[in-house]
Order: sequence, then C-alpha cells, then structure tokens
Amino acid sequence: MPVRSLVAGGAGFIGSHLVAGLLARGGDVTVLDNFSTGHRDAVSPGAQVVAADLADGDAVDRVLAEGRFDTVFHLADLSLVGDSMRAPLHYMMTNTGNAGRLIDGCVRHGVRRFVFSSTANLFGTSGADAGMRPIDEGAGIAPGSPYGESKWMIERMLGWADRIHGLRSACLRFFNAAGADPGGLLGEDHTPETHLIPLAIDAALGRRPELVLFGTDYPTADGTCIRDYIHVNDLVSAHLAALGRLDQGSVRYNIGLGRGYSVREVIDSVARIGGKPVPHRVADRRAGDPAILIADSGRIREQTGWVPEFTDLDSIVGTAWAWRVAHPYGFSA
Ligand code: UDP
Repeated sequence: MPVRSLVAGGAGFIGSHLVAGLLARGGDVTVLDNFSTGHRDAVSPGAQVVAADLADGDAVDRVLAEGRFDTVFHLADLSLVGDSMRAPLHYMMTNTGNAGRLIDGCVRHGVRRFVFSSTANLFGTSGADAGMRPIDEGAGIAPGSPYGESKWMIERMLGWADRIHGLRSACLRFFNAAGADPGGLLGEDHTPETHLIPLAIDAALGRRPELVLFGTDYPTADGTCIRDYIHVNDLVSAHLAALGRLDQGSVRYNIGLGRGYSVREVIDSVARIGGKPVPHRVADRRAGDPAILIADSGRIREQTGWVPEFTDLDSIVGTAWAWRVAHPYGFSA
C-alpha cells in the first residue's frame, strides 16, 4: 500500500475510483488533472487536487518536487480508439509527450514506483487473429489503433526507465472498464459518451433515441464484437495487487475477467437488468475495433493472488444502471 501517491487523471472514471480506494486504505493522495474530461466532484474529498496539464512541464516538475511521492499512477491519457483513428499523430504525440514528462520527473525526484494504465488495444490485430482464445502477456503486440500504439510506446519508455534508472513499473493492460462503485458516489460520466454500456442504458431509459450498433458482420457467433468487461473496482484492486509485486521487479499484466460478451449480449443484459428494451439500429463497423478481445489474466492472479469480485456481466451492468438512474446528469447535477 503506497503511503503518498500521485494520481494523474484522478478525476476520470477509473482514476476517481482508484483515488477513493487509496483513501479508504489510509493513503495520502494528490490528484493531478487538467479536468478536460474528468470532474472535480468525482474526486473524493480527502484528496489534494492540483489542476494542471501534463503538457506543462514546469507544473509537473513542481508537483513531483513538492510531493515526495512513493508511487505515481498514470491514468491521464487520451483514450478513445475512434478519435485516435481520426487524429493519429495528435494522439501519439500527446500521450507519449505527457507520459515522458511524468516519467522523467519521477526519475529526477526519486519516485520509486510507477503504475501505468495501458490497454487491450495493444493486441488489436493479434486479438482478432487469436479468435476466442484469451490473450496473455506473451501474445504478439499489434496495436489496433494509434491510441494503442501510444500506450505501447509508453510501456517501452517505462522499460528503459527501469533498466537505466531503476524506476519500477506496472503496466496494466485493461480490457473494457465498466460498472460503478456500489457505494453510489462514483460512476462513468463522459462527454460525449462513446462507451457501449452507458449508451445502452441511456437508450433503455429514453435519454437518447437509440443505441447505434457498430457492425454485425464480424467473425463471431452473432456477428457483433466481443469484449471482456471488467468492473472498475476490480481494476482498483488490480492496481494495488500489482504494486505489491514491484519489490520483485517491473511487471506487465493483462486484466479482464477472462470471459467475453458480444455487443448483442450486452444489450440483452441491460434490458434484463433494467427491465426495459434497448432501442437500437445496426450501422457499419467503427474504425479501429478488433473483433474479439478477451484477457487471460492468469499472470496477475498467480503472481499476486488478485481475484475479481464482479464475475459476470449482469452484476457489472447492475452497478452501472444504478449509477445512471441515480445521477441522470452525471457529476454536473
Ligand atoms: N459499440 C457499439 N455502439 C456504440 C459504442 C460501442 O456498437 O455506440 C461497440 C464497439 O464497436 C465495441 C464495443 O461496443 O465493439 C465496446 O466499445 P466501447 O467503446 O465501449 O469500448 P472499446 O472496446 O472501444 O474500448
């Protein structure tokens, strides 16, 4: 358990849940966020907040110089596959430049441990080739988009930062983060929302006319993409589990349930949990979407004892549904 930690991107979906988890375990937490997509009200009251952009090298340097952090968590990347297909160089320059400033600052100010939110999109193409086989850490890296490529470049930066400067790191390849803290205070609130589960819930609730289903001609049983949805609180526990392993060296872990659900199965789950149909229409594929991404999380389970608490789609969707019903306007209410 880190004593003093910096959470870059601590006002975002996963970051805000991580901050709450660290505080609940007695940590001293500082959030660094530019609030471009995150929300002030998503940051738990016990955390200190620094509003700054990772592009501002002086600000990053100041925070790290003053904080005496033992651990830095980085969840502040641009993170939309579709956007990165439209603006590839912007995505790669922003993500790698920002991460580089943060990692360099950690090296110069004596931070010993770095935890990086990476992505299943590293395996974009290899995942599709692998069919239904879950993807372990030995699978070939073949980013499905410039977003995934930028994450892979950052993982490699961290490899060199360890080898030359001794900065220990955990690269956590999250599959599809979903759900909300059952406590009811935190949940998913993106503007614009692009993720399947919140969009399906909003369609069922009549807050948008319909869900647009991107592609029914994939090589899967029902023709729609298959993803491995993992509850956001299980990602928080994975962060802490991975940290505990850094004493033995840097790690890379793929993190999901190890079970895939198709877009149609997600739509069915939302309808079942909410008791309302999900109006939807079929459209063309979305650029950059691999057919199937399912995690093999055997390595983190074996090396750290990490076990997810939410083990099926309905239980994850249930927490997301409760959050959106209770917070119709997200954090801006
Ligand atoms: N999806 C969809 N309609 C939407 C949003 C997503 O059909 O409005 C599909 C998308 O093509 C993918 C899956 O749902 O197959 C999960 O997409 P999401 O954006 O939630 O996560 P990603 O897999 O891109 O990280």
